[in-house]
Amino acid sequence: MPVSAPRLVSPAPIRLLDLPAQHAAIQPELDAALQRVLREGAFIQGPDVQHFAAELSQYLDGAHVVPCANGTDALQLALMALELQPGDEVIVPAFTYVATAEAAAILGLRPVLAEVDPLTFNLDPAAAEAAIGPRTRAIMAVHLYGQCADLTALRALARQHGLALIEDTAQAIGATWQFPDGSTQPAGTVGEVGTTSFFPSKNLGALGDGGALFTRSEAHAAQLQELANHGQPRGRKYLHQRIGLNSRLDTLQAALLRVKLRHLPAWTAARQQVAARYDAALASVPGLRVPARQTGSTHVFHQYTVTLASPARRDGLQEHLKQCGVPSVVYYPVPVHRQPAYQYLGYREGQFPRSEALCRTVLSLPIHPQLTAEQVDYVAAAVRAYLDQAGQ
Ligand SMILES: *Cc1c(COP(=O)(O)O)cnc(C)c1O
Repeated sequence: MPVSAPRLVSPAPIRLLDLPAQHAAIQPELDAALQRVLREGAFIQGPDVQHFAAELSQYLDGAHVVPCANGTDALQLALMALELQPGDEVIVPAFTYVATAEAAAILGLRPVLAEVDPLTFNLDPAAAEAAIGPRTRAIMAVHLYGQCADLTALRALARQHGLALIEDTAQAIGATWQFPDGSTQPAGTVGEVGTTSFFPSKNLGALGDGGALFTRSEAHAAQLQELANHGQPRGRKYLHQRIGLNSRLDTLQAALLRVKLRHLPAWTAARQQVAARYDAALASVPGLRVPARQTGSTHVFHQYTVTLASPARRDGLQEHLKQCGVPSVVYYPVPVHRQPAYQYLGYREGQFPRSEALCRTVLSLPIHPQLTAEQVDYVAAAVRAYLDQAGQ
């Protein structure tokens, strides 16, 4: 049923993310960093890379930080450090960005998919447990959309079965997990290794590609650093201890990320305010579910993802929002096991019904630190107008 646009005057154009506005607000700081790198001329492994790693380490409660070229490399390096055998199995959520499964597959490991929790969208510990077999070596938890998977349960499960826990923190930098004893740890520092991405659209985004690994173990950090640099131990030029990758964070990106890291806490708070405003406007709207909060986790709202009652309502809402000048995105329209490249894993349609249903019913609304209250209200009004008229 076609639905007319809400009788509202659209505020300034609404974008999914507004990097030009973000950068304009900190332009002098970015310019100074850029000029410094140009002057110093150390474009690879310059001093800013180590400074950035140290500053990010401080932000992450002292965990070691190993910068690398991108978030996908970080996942691959995390798995390489485990020194697994071809055919060893790694548990991966069926509902994730493809990079999580890809990192395992490219190393000749077998991604074993497991269902997610339909409310939090994250790996379901019970499903992960059911997927454990004699060749299982690791669990890859993805902190999707900005909140942690159940790290208490997943860490216990990993320990019980002698598995490594890898945390894909590309969407959740700055989130924290609280254990039942009240202690808290930053996302990405609970498992053996955490990974993140500085892809420009992430909460902490470079002006190009970038990534990093986190670990609490100094020995592990040295090993990851070595793997990211052609398997060469630090300070031992032309000695190649292992087969590694060439995966470095550019000095320029590190310098720019140092600037942005200083603003990350304020940007995260701004995202949380946008989310709270959406919640207040949308929580009681029939036919739509606002993002559920995982007990134990804070949420840094990389995405604000609502779930509709049916695929038709989701697609209808997206079209209606477009008519209203509101962009929205489906993260992710196809689960890993329905991707052509992953057919060799032998999964069938219908095998992961929760993940498949989410692919058909989720919609991510605009959320970024520069979004104004007026813009949020406009988006929420447009959502409500559609559901009022279309019915549940
Ligand atoms: C962005 C992202 C990645 C990949 O990061 P790149 O830097 O683009 O390689 C991996 N996993 C998740 C969950 C992501 O969101």
